[in-house]
Amino acid sequence: MTAENKKIWLASPHMSKEGYEQQYVQEAFDTNWVAPLGPNVNKFENELAEKVGSKHAAALISGTGAIHLALKAAGVGEGDIVLCPTLTFSASANPIIYQNATPVFIDSNYETWNMDTNALKEAFEKYGERVKAVIVVHLYGFSADMDKIMEICDQHNVPVIEDAAESLGAYYKGKHTGTFGKYGIFSFNGNKIITTSGGGMLVSDDEEKIDKVRFWSTQSRDTARHYQHSELGFNYRMSNVVAGIGRGQLKVLDRRVAKKKYIFDYYKKELGDLDGVEFMPVNDWNEPNFWLSVMTLNGEVRPIDVMEALEKENIESRPVWKPMHMQPFFEEYDYVGSDVSEKLYEDGVCLPSDTKMTDEDLERICEIIKGLWM
Ligand SMILES: *Cc1c(COP(=O)(O)O)cnc(C)c1O
Repeated sequence: MTAENKKIWLASPHMSKEGYEQQYVQEAFDTNWVAPLGPNVNKFENELAEKVGSKHAAALISGTGAIHLALKAAGVGEGDIVLCPTLTFSASANPIIYQNATPVFIDSNYETWNMDTNALKEAFEKYGERVKAVIVVHLYGFSADMDKIMEICDQHNVPVIEDAAESLGAYYKGKHTGTFGKYGIFSFNGNKIITTSGGGMLVSDDEEKIDKVRFWSTQSRDTARHYQHSELGFNYRMSNVVAGIGRGQLKVLDRRVAKKKYIFDYYKKELGDLDGVEFMPVNDWNEPNFWLSVMTLNGEVRPIDVMEALEKENIESRPVWKPMHMQPFFEEYDYVGSDVSEKLYEDGVCLPSDTKMTDEDLERICEIIKGLWM
């Protein structure tokens, strides 16, 4: 492989140069805590809760599992409606189906790309008391307009579950995303801003609910010598080895956010003036973690042109999430909004945002893209 066609990933795991992760994993091996419990799990929960400013946290096998148990904790069940953004990854919506509830998809607005509050209000008007929970996503690490969303949901007395899978390290008006709603979830999947190879966390200020989530996530074993179960159980608890990786990664989160911001600023400066190009908006109340740098193209050069030109040079990029209401699996469910999310999907392209990229890599990417305008 030559320097010219070196593979560049959209976002890939980036372990600390100090080797923190391996130290904690080694500790787990040395003490034989190779199990879905142990000191790393407890410490990772405490350290993450402290980092985001939440009172309690439960470490789980995935962000998807965390959303699932948040819905269960919120009492969502058969026949209930859960409002969910349409412009997101399917993992935001799948757990609604696991609980036999019904999703109703909400459009985005151009100002935030996240949940549109007019569409949210409209959905509440339409479904009233049947709405049992609202899932809010902070897309690509850019926060939704939480004050407005919380006001509407509080009025209706409906709990908010923040899907902050993409936004660990991002703030809204100085407060960490994932801590506005009754529940917040984070993901440590391989391409997220920090990773444990796979894993998730559910945070809440409600200690009882978090205890309950830990109970469900370890097969709902009642306190008895014999195996006694009075509730449905899940095998969702994070392993102590994986939690060790998480503890190490948490130490470099701020560094990763700084690099992601550097990448976003670099692209904006180099590509922002090209005809038809716009970048995902940063509002003044928003301190994103810039997980992915995303731009829209509404001129002659289309997203597919950019993706193909990069692909030819061994560089990964991808479209914006295809909205849930356009997915064959979710087509039958209601959708409230105009066509903002569809337009963002059609025009959007996620640029390589790997924190291991050098200035040379960024320059190479920008030259390829600029070439499409010549
Ligand atoms: C990654 C992601 C999830 C799922 O997290 P996993 O840990 O992969 O299960 C959920 N929602 C969004 C928006 C995501 O990007």
